[in-house]
Amino acid sequence: MANSDEFEKFISAEELEQRIAELGAQISADYAGKDLLLIAVLKGSVIFLADLMRNITVPHSVDFMATSSYGSSTETSGIVRIVKDLTMSITGRNVLIVEDIIDTGHTLHYLLRFLKAREPREIRIVTLLDKRERREVDIEVDYVGFVIPNAFVIGYGLDFDEMYRNLPYIAIPKEGFFGSEVE
Ligand code: 5GP
Repeated sequence: MANSDEFEKFISAEELEQRIAELGAQISADYAGKDLLLIAVLKGSVIFLADLMRNITVPHSVDFMATSSYGSSTETSGIVRIVKDLTMSITGRNVLIVEDIIDTGHTLHYLLRFLKAREPREIRIVTLLDKRERREVDIEVDYVGFVIPNAFVIGYGLDFDEMYRNLPYIAIPKEGFFGSEVE
């Protein structure tokens, strides 16, 4: 298992906490007196969801989906598969999709089409991280935590090979990290 000198802290726990409080306050104001259903995309967004929910002061429900993209773990291929569907109906509801990171945008583009077919009242998107310069399809994002440059990041829910989701901050692996052996 690689240790912490193999990656660099990029967004600290304190910065995450502060920004998520701001996002929560903004979302609470925007949805005051309205219906709200959060849809989190597993697995990367669970830590963000848990912190965001506790900063949203208006009543809301939550449901989960899981997607997988064909291709390697560090590159998205644009072909998306739904591996876990919602348990609740979204017809007529105000849906807020909770994402960990938007990179090329292919995953969300597919997901939006899939969810819109069920005729929700409205769909908005909140993402913790936005790698805007990597976008290949146009997506309107309503709430963004941090716009980040084109680097592979781990921690705070985001994995490398299913590991490192537990880091309480966002980190960028240093050179040599991807080749490191798990002991
Ligand atoms: P997109 O379809 O927008 O290209 O990719 C979205 C998905 O790719 C994210 O939900 C995430 O699973 C994965 N991804 C994209 N960039 C990163 C990154 O820097 N780190 C990690 N761990 N996953 C990423």
